[in-house]
Amino acid sequence: MQSTRKVASNRADQFQESVIREMSRLSAQHKAVNLAQGLPDFPCPPELKEAVTRAVLDDVNQYAITWGDKALRQSLADQFKKFTGLTVEPETDITVCCGATEAMVATMLALVDVDDEVIVFEPFYENYGPDSILCGAKPRYVKLHAPDWTFDEADLAEAFNDKTRAIIINTPHNPTGKVFSLEEMTAIAKLCQKHNVLAFTDEIYEHILYDGAKHVSMAALPGMAELTVTINSLSKTYSVTGWRVGWAIASPELTLPIRKVHDFLTVGAPAPLQRAGVTAINMPDKYYDELKAKYTERRTMMLDILDGVGIPYFKPQGAYYAFCDISKLGFKSDMDFTKHLVKDIGVAVVPGGSFFGPDAENRHNYVRFCFSRKDETMLAAKERLAKLKK
Ligand code: PLP
Repeated sequence: MQSTRKVASNRADQFQESVIREMSRLSAQHKAVNLAQGLPDFPCPPELKEAVTRAVLDDVNQYAITWGDKALRQSLADQFKKFTGLTVEPETDITVCCGATEAMVATMLALVDVDDEVIVFEPFYENYGPDSILCGAKPRYVKLHAPDWTFDEADLAEAFNDKTRAIIINTPHNPTGKVFSLEEMTAIAKLCQKHNVLAFTDEIYEHILYDGAKHVSMAALPGMAELTVTINSLSKTYSVTGWRVGWAIASPELTLPIRKVHDFLTVGAPAPLQRAGVTAINMPDKYYDELKAKYTERRTMMLDILDGVGIPYFKPQGAYYAFCDISKLGFKSDMDFTKHLVKDIGVAVVPGGSFFGPDAENRHNYVRFCFSRKDETMLAAKERLAKLKK
């Protein structure tokens, strides 16, 4: 007898497969130049390769302490002090996870209850939707408005209510490249304190900034250390997205449940890669200056290509994406444009719809180009995109 029972859980049924990873698969299928997924196609710093090798040879090959390698947590605490001025205790305030991805899921599962509301700025990094569904919460979207992707303070104030448990802030922002200003962060902080709402901040692009833009860490604002979970990772700053080492920094009270969830989700991030992370976190100041300079060159190259073919974009202040409004280019939708690009032109990008909730009326107006690529990759994309002009 055939079972009528459905296979997927109600939770899994509520979200789709990642569009970004799907675009990478389509890209491979059509042998396209992949400007979709947010990963560098150039090597990580050589000292990091050596550090991993050393860790493996030194027998750092068994489970690390579940909340993270001691040396890494100490380095993270030192670095957090240096960049934010805040003192955190490696023994009680830091949880090392499998990337910022797990850090956010563990944080949400640990601190958000079924039917709580979580405020999410829209557009948003696509994981926050499924993250909310997995913990049974309701995402409540607050619009960021083009061209500078700011929010209306009255809209934000209206979104806070008795059910609001947390707000997710991602700065520098994927997909728009917006860097939230001190004034914006202060306005959010005031509402969090007024309503006793937690702030989950995804700061994974904190060192990729342009034109003198300054990164503001929510935890460093007056009164916010106790309400904030700061999420970050090695992935983007050190070009090691495959290492899967990220972390959550929060008060001991918030950290305790995060650690419990993390332990039962994954036990721990890969031990030798955590140990090698100590070398990454202790890179000299020069490293961060060079990172900014190199990404500024890549941004120039990306924007020149887009100018050359007449695709309008929002100039990013941070992160490594160009978010483009394609609504006046004569295509039916973001999917239509993206499919044409990958199949006929040979360049893969991400359709913007994946960064919006299901009801956003402008969700099909955008696509995202990723420029964390080698010069050769960008030149190959330029050559192919020239066909678009014709
Ligand atoms: N957060 C944001 C805003 C991202 O853009 C990404 C990757 O693209 C991640 C988190 C994933 O981070 P990780 O590789 O540390 O899991």
